[in-house]
Amino acid sequence: MTSIQTHINELKASIPKNVSIVAVSKTKPNSMLLEAYNAGQLDFGENYVQELVDKQKSLPTDIRWHFIGHLQSNKVKYIAPFVYLIHSVDSFKLLVEIDKQAKKNNRIIDCLLQIYIAQEETKFGFDRTDCFNMLESDSFKALKNIRICGLMGMASFTAKEEQIEKEFATIKQLFDDIKESNLLTSSFQHLSIGMSSDYLLAIKHGSNMIRVGSMIFGNRNYNA
Ligand SMILES: *Cc1c(COP(=O)(O)O)cnc(C)c1O
Repeated sequence: MTSIQTHINELKASIPKNVSIVAVSKTKPNSMLLEAYNAGQLDFGENYVQELVDKQKSLPTDIRWHFIGHLQSNKVKYIAPFVYLIHSVDSFKLLVEIDKQAKKNNRIIDCLLQIYIAQEETKFGFDRTDCFNMLESDSFKALKNIRICGLMGMASFTAKEEQIEKEFATIKQLFDDIKESNLLTSSFQHLSIGMSSDYLLAIKHGSNMIRVGSMIFGNRNYNA
């Protein structure tokens, strides 16, 4: 067994069965993704459109590709034919473009709404009010080729666990409130929170999808 495979098995053993793992493979070579794939890992997350497109072309076709980075509207067309889940929908404009490209490809694209929970100014996403305003609007209801399957969030980059937990609790509350609102269907079910440094805290606050990179593949050469 390779070290990547050991890391995946250890990670799996440390989390409940209902929590799915997206292996974040940005900047990592295809050979490392294949090691994970050969350990049964089918869900991979990427941040850059070009890198994702290149990897998709050369790796097994049953891999489920998750897009987790900031997505520019003009690049949606490159991933629309195959992307499995877009975690990082941070504006209505982007959602409209995803819907348009999904339609062109004769498919429905599953999406998560990225929620702004961190203290940092640089993070993208909706806040609670934006979120409800959009979901209640007729222009949102007119989009037939996207499906909102849950929420995604990134906690502040801090060692203060209390702060991180507060942020995760905020997104979990919004997740529950949207669910109860019946604005969306039963496909609204994923709460994508938690990375290598905070996935246990995220699971404590209801995460059922964690995005783990460095813990599986080792540190990246640059911080993407
Ligand atoms: C890079 C990245 C991750 C994974 O980060 P690690 O700390 O390596 O686990 C998760 N989510 C997003 C959005 C990322 O950009």
